Amino acid sequence: MANQRSVKMSVCRRCRLQDASVVSRKEWFCNECFQKFVSAKQRKQMMCEPYFQDIFKVLYQDKIRSAEEAGLQNQQSKVLVPLSFGSSSLVMLDILNETLTEQKQTQRGNTGFQIDVLICLKAGDDRDTYQKIVKELHEERYAMNHEKLKFHFISEESFYDGELRTILLDNQGFASKSIKGQLDLSQNSTVEKLLAQCPDKSSRKDLDTFIQRHLIKKYAYQHNHKAILWGHSMTKLADETISLIVKGRGSQISPLLSDTELNPLYENKFKNMFPLKDVLLSEIDAYCYTKGLEGFLVGYVAQDTLLVNKIGDSKQPTKMVKQLSINEIARGYFDDVEADYSNVISTVVRTAYKLAEPKSICSEPCSICQTKIHSDAFRWLRAITVNDSHPIENDEEAGLFAKWRDSELGNEVIEYMKLKDRAFQDGVDAPLCYGCMINLNRMRNRNVLWPQNDEEELQTVLNEFVLADDGE
Ligand SMILES: [Zn+2]
Ligand SMILES: [Zn+2]
Repeated sequence: MANQRSVKMSVCRRCRLQDASVVSRKEWFCNECFQKFVSAKQRKQMMCEPYFQDIFKVLYQDKIRSAEEAGLQNQQSKVLVPLSFGSSSLVMLDILNETLTEQKQTQRGNTGFQIDVLICLKAGDDRDTYQKIVKELHEERYAMNHEKLKFHFISEESFYDGELRTILLDNQGFASKSIKGQLDLSQNSTVEKLLAQCPDKSSRKDLDTFIQRHLIKKYAYQHNHKAILWGHSMTKLADETISLIVKGRGSQISPLLSDTELNPLYENKFKNMFPLKDVLLSEIDAYCYTKGLEGFLVGYVAQDTLLVNKIGDSKQPTKMVKQLSINEIARGYFDDVEADYSNVISTVVRTAYKLAEPKSICSEPCSICQTKIHSDAFRWLRAITVNDSHPIENDEEAGLFAKWRDSELGNEVIEYMKLKDRAFQDGVDAPLCYGCMINLNRMRNRNVLWPQNDEEELQTVLNEFVLADDGE
């Protein structure tokens, strides 16, 4: 563990002037040199290919564009930054803000891009807290780039705006159907209640991640952003990779990480990028402290593992393994190895980037998570599952059956059978990927209320709500 290393005041190995304050990858840094080290890694990603260079660079008149065209292109280079108020997305935003400031200083007031920050709030979130922090960021910390860096709020509940359908799984044949509207009236029609109904933390996290990601992408689609910048650290990408494999969603790793492809589901309007993919979470957390960003975090305490002078109370509350989602278990593992075996993390991420997406076997994507379907999970699950019940042969068995039928569980099964009959009579086929099938099979009545995921749904305008009155 880093904090057990003997700590003696040492000088920064880079500038050889200041006292070292951070130790990372066996190197001693002062605050300033460490900040340069992290920010250079992000900026390198931002210039990794021509598509992103065109976005971030300040463009001028040249062989291919006139002065007007260059100006227009600078103006239209909009990027979307989803902000969760964890350390990674906040550090990424802070470095972007510094890039804007530097461009203004060195390019006669011009900048190459502008930033829309998107905050997706849940029904239960304390809006006052967010309002206060955003106001402070907007009016103080980022005041210099006021006109280039704007904050927007949407509610996670807007996932259910527009026309909805019910997707239902047949547990015997492992087939699934989609039927317009809300079929199962015992289910609730808010996202908050949908998530509360999930049987465990992993499936809740799974749906929640998809819902948030979809809303962010839909926002980028509707507002013509050229790129979405996700704050994920190298550690987070490693935990995401391992969790996807455990959840039977390994085929999604490659499309998730891709920063070279446009997104066909959103009409190829933007690319995704992970500017902090070469930075460990512990480094991002240390960066937070050296920059005084820790006061802007919500629901997360930055770790002080790499700091020479420990903060002391930066422990995350510990949870029982039973209460953890698969992502949290994977994260716990990577947190443990980060200090001494950080190469494990980079190996996982490097390997993940080498994976290619398997060939899909179905022309339609998964009806729930919209990823390509690459194996016939239905046929495979049918082959390994026994679903037929034994026929009733005598009075005793008939009595037991009647008892079961009248029990709560019996009622639930009968209720499910009724819903299933309707969905299979009037619904249309709704292909599912393996991961979603497993999830749906454990939901109450094996169905979920879901948007149409069609052209019309993509066009349904996401309503923003205003929290801070920023005087515009
Ligand atoms: Zn230094
Ligand atoms: Zn799926």
